[in-house]
Amino acid sequence: MDSMLATLRRIVQAVTAQARFANAVQTLVIDVKDAMQADVCTIYLINRARTHFVLVATDGLNLDKVGSAEIALADGLVGQVARRAEPLNLNDARSHPSFLYLADSGEEAVNSFLGVPIIHQGRTLGVLVVQQRDARRFDESEEAFLVTLAAQLAAVVAHADAVGESALLGVRGGELEDTCFTGVKGAPGIAIGTAVVVHPVANLEAVPEKEAENVTIELLLFDRALKSVRGDIKKIIEEFSESLPEQELALFDAYLHMLDENALAGDIRERIQHGQWSQGALKQVIREHVNRFEEMEDPYLRERGTDVKDLGLRLLAYLQDIRDKKSHFPKETVLVGDEVTPAILANVPADRLRAIVSMRGSRNSHMAILARAMDIPAVMGAVELPAYELEGEELLVDGHYGEVYTRPSDARIRLSRELIEQERIFDEELNELKELPCITRDGWRLALWVNIGLTGDLTRSLDRGAEGIGLFRTEIPFMSKDSFPTEAEQYTLYREHMEAFDPRPVTMRTLDIGGDKSLSYFPIQEENPFLGWRGIRVTLDHPEIMLVQVRAMLKANAGLEGELRIMLPMISSPQELRSAKILIKQAYEEVIEEGVSVKRPQVGVMIEVPAAVYQARQLAKEADFLAVGSNDLTQYMLAVDRNNARVAELYQDVHPAVVTALREVARAAHAEETPLGICGELAGTPIGAVLLMAMGYHVLSMNATHLPKVKWVIRNIKRSDARRMLARVLRMDNAHDIEQFMDEQLRAAGLAKALPHHHD
Ligand code: PEP
Ligand code: MG
Repeated sequence: MDSMLATLRRIVQAVTAQARFANAVQTLVIDVKDAMQADVCTIYLINRARTHFVLVATDGLNLDKVGSAEIALADGLVGQVARRAEPLNLNDARSHPSFLYLADSGEEAVNSFLGVPIIHQGRTLGVLVVQQRDARRFDESEEAFLVTLAAQLAAVVAHADAVGESALLGVRGGELEDTCFTGVKGAPGIAIGTAVVVHPVANLEAVPEKEAENVTIELLLFDRALKSVRGDIKKIIEEFSESLPEQELALFDAYLHMLDENALAGDIRERIQHGQWSQGALKQVIREHVNRFEEMEDPYLRERGTDVKDLGLRLLAYLQDIRDKKSHFPKETVLVGDEVTPAILANVPADRLRAIVSMRGSRNSHMAILARAMDIPAVMGAVELPAYELEGEELLVDGHYGEVYTRPSDARIRLSRELIEQERIFDEELNELKELPCITRDGWRLALWVNIGLTGDLTRSLDRGAEGIGLFRTEIPFMSKDSFPTEAEQYTLYREHMEAFDPRPVTMRTLDIGGDKSLSYFPIQEENPFLGWRGIRVTLDHPEIMLVQVRAMLKANAGLEGELRIMLPMISSPQELRSAKILIKQAYEEVIEEGVSVKRPQVGVMIEVPAAVYQARQLAKEADFLAVGSNDLTQYMLAVDRNNARVAELYQDVHPAVVTALREVARAAHAEETPLGICGELAGTPIGAVLLMAMGYHVLSMNATHLPKVKWVIRNIKRSDARRMLARVLRMDNAHDIEQFMDEQLRAAGLAKALPHHHD
């Protein structure tokens, strides 16, 4: 073999250049057989029901067997490789006790066997095998080569699954009958509805290939997209004809030429005429052209591949836009997609949306937080869901458990409808608590406040009996603009909220950008944004931004009875608090100088970085209040990205380390007699609320949606009982035990109604 890495690259490139999965895997087996000078190379994939392997590609065995030959999951050498999840390398396969001859496959002639598992994100998807006629043992470097290749192949298989392509090969298709796919709990609740599959914004890779339902319409859609893109480019040329250098302008001219009928447009149209839908045709043609450019020697020409890709994305954006706007949304819509984002949501009429299912994202992605705020059940990170096969299918979404059932059985639907009805009745009961205080059965008073910003739904928060705003995410209004909002603009928005809530306290967080929250007009490029320039770090470096914001907050509070609390995000040392206080004081004095009579604000610190947990006592001494941001605290304590579906299982909000940290912060605040709150999502869960109440948190701030339920739970429990539960929990060593114990305890205390239904 030539250099292993070079061969590997060559093969992977050849494979990913294939538009269709079937061709990709067939290319792979041919190339691998050739590179390893083997006699046979075969790929077996496990079907969705995980009952057997299907032969999906081979070079050396009987090609007629592709898509039809099956091996039971436990059988044969292939079964052993998958079961043990490790390579098996035999020079004399036939004498191995597990050897199973695949009938009529042509396998009778081979002796040696090297099989490696194809594993994606911890899940075995299949097995890659090479075989040899003579009884020679594959050497270690060949084994290493195949293992490396299989690891890359895994991503290709997973992707093909995701876009429904592997179904075409007879694997993972047609098994949707009452099948459960598990993801991450995004937002609680149960819903039944019809899937509407949305495609991620302009991502060519994610476009599935399928037949056009109506060729004329697809051609029409394509023409409109083409016209729009041409128009856009012409506009750019006009607008910049003075200011852009010749060379750059020439590039846009070249773009127009590339779109000509004898170039991209003609090719795409031809594919559509052959029956491919417009987005699929676009994907195919762009991929071919890009490949052609990328193979060129000349670096300048190679770069032109990027231009073709860019044009492809522009066209796709229009195609999807046209589609989305025309899309018909059934009365009971379940929005399904590779990545469902708040922007996609904006296209769906709110009264038709029943549930959201996203293959990406996690419990604390802002999409999930938004779904909870809207009270729409959501399942995130459903990585195995064959999203693109689901258009028009009936789905049952159980947000309590993060499950999606495709084509649910009648019995399951009946049961779920009963549960939905119970939840509705409970909601009505909760409505009656609106005016009542949040007080435990043994007289411990808690304040329940709301988090605002994602929906900006003021009246709803007040309707649900919020006693204050515990977190105003001010970055959200910053995100929807083209530049930093002015002091006057900020004032108007803040004033509206403060007036509506008066005389209740309002907690305004200073701008918390960075991490996953970026501003289009203030880009921050970093390797590790969550460990980078975030929250208070940005505003301390830009006093001009912070001063304007604080001045707007102070003025918005002028003349009102309610207390203004300014809250600082991402504090990791008392020094940052001191610097922020100096700026706040400056803003205060400026406003007074201007002659506006305002009160001194309370200044508090968010505890969301582990360092702040260990310095909570010092911070409590110098701050007017502490508020835990458990969403970030959890991600930093556990080193788990809150948005990453791949590690979502590890994001455990009642992990013992997190629970202990929360208790330590409470102790520090109590020792300094500093008011203590929490505004992470944990506060809005029954288990979290009970534990936090036991620890002595004074304020729980949450989504308005969760508020009535949490109030009901707290009103129906004694603090003494909650403290007893907490004592037990603090001795447990894993999140699962804690959750299970608390679930049992709350059920035993008669609080089952507030918990997810029991699961079969
Ligand atoms: C948190 O981190 O817990 C928090 C409340 O802030 P955000 O979710 O906006 O980061
Ligand atoms: Mg945070």
